[in-house]
Amino acid sequence: PLTAGIVGLPNVGKSTLFNAITKSQVEAANYPFATIDPNVGVVEVPDHRLDQLTEMYQPKKTIPTTFEFTDIAGIVKGASKGEGLGNKFLANIREVDAICHVVRCFNDGNITHVSGKIDPSDDIDTINLELILADLDSVSKRYEKAAKMAKSKNHEAVVEAQALAKVKEALENSQPARTVDLTEEEEPFIKHMFLLTMKPVLYVANVQEEDAATGNDYVEIVRDIANQENAEVVVVSAKIEEELASLDDDDKAMFLEDLGMEQSGLDVLIQRAYTLLGLETFFTAGEPEVRAWTFKRGMKAPQAAGVIHSDFERGFIRAETVSFDDLMEYGSTQAAKEHGKYRSEGKDYVVQDGDVMLFRFNV
Ligand code: GDP
Repeated sequence: PLTAGIVGLPNVGKSTLFNAITKSQVEAANYPFATIDPNVGVVEVPDHRLDQLTEMYQPKKTIPTTFEFTDIAGIVKGASKGEGLGNKFLANIREVDAICHVVRCFNDGNITHVSGKIDPSDDIDTINLELILADLDSVSKRYEKAAKMAKSKNHEAVVEAQALAKVKEALENSQPARTVDLTEEEEPFIKHMFLLTMKPVLYVANVQEEDAATGNDYVEIVRDIANQENAEVVVVSAKIEEELASLDDDDKAMFLEDLGMEQSGLDVLIQRAYTLLGLETFFTAGEPEVRAWTFKRGMKAPQAAGVIHSDFERGFIRAETVSFDDLMEYGSTQAAKEHGKYRSEGKDYVVQDGDVMLFRFNV
């Protein structure tokens, strides 16, 4: 499964956030395959549509879909004793599909900041610089080869050299690779390099409890940076999330209301990271079970069926499909059918977020 890695400087709240994540881990009974790596936290993806489907079907069981976070700091701790960010750190980032970069946006005199003052912009630069330098190293090497080959006027080599030159220039100007505009032809040459600064980034602005609902000036600094480099921002108070994670749903709702918050920051983080990775949800719904399933945006019906079981993909015939909105509007699949909204889709159908599906297949 795709995973988002949690990174950040020391003392910014990574462990606190990861604690909140592991405290809200899914029940192993529903996910026997869930990883038991202590550096991985598997959380449910909050989705109000699942609640509405549960109300409609009154199933015996409701199963949300899940999402994985990896605590990169935790992995690094055991392995590298050296100061600062080692190769191990970079290697671990290379393995995740998106980066959740925790930035300290809270004042607390008792907690030392590594560079002595709260400065989100400087913190972000520190981490980004490591990533940029690592990428620059790979891109420069590759560029020299490609530039040599491009002398032969071989079209592919020319395009590759051109793409690499663009990325190299950005990196030399301290800009991440994901800010570079590449043509459709250039893109594959860069994509297969798995650059660290090509990965989507979500800045997690960790604020003190009283700023959780409103944000603060530090958060605005983070937002400005994110805007410039094609990244996103989520405001979280790791402390609050840690407390919320040990409450049941009713207490959680009350606590959030007291704080003037509509949703837990962690829930928002999960949803945003999920979307950032190009993940979407389809549902299966019946009396025994209502369940949410994750698929990659753009997947066709047989591949989506394969998310449930490989037999479903292999023997795929068609998918009875109704959108969540249509199902809610008409109140039942039968009524949706009468309005022509319950469709029988074939193998070329591109599954849409929110589709409620029933797969027909040969065994
Ligand atoms: P890490 O080194 O990035 O993993 O940081 P920790 O999660 O260990 O947090 C460092 C310290 O900051 C701990 O004492 C936390 O309790 C504290 N801390 C983390 N998040 C918050 C927060 O939102 N508000 C306040 N006041 N303290 C926090």
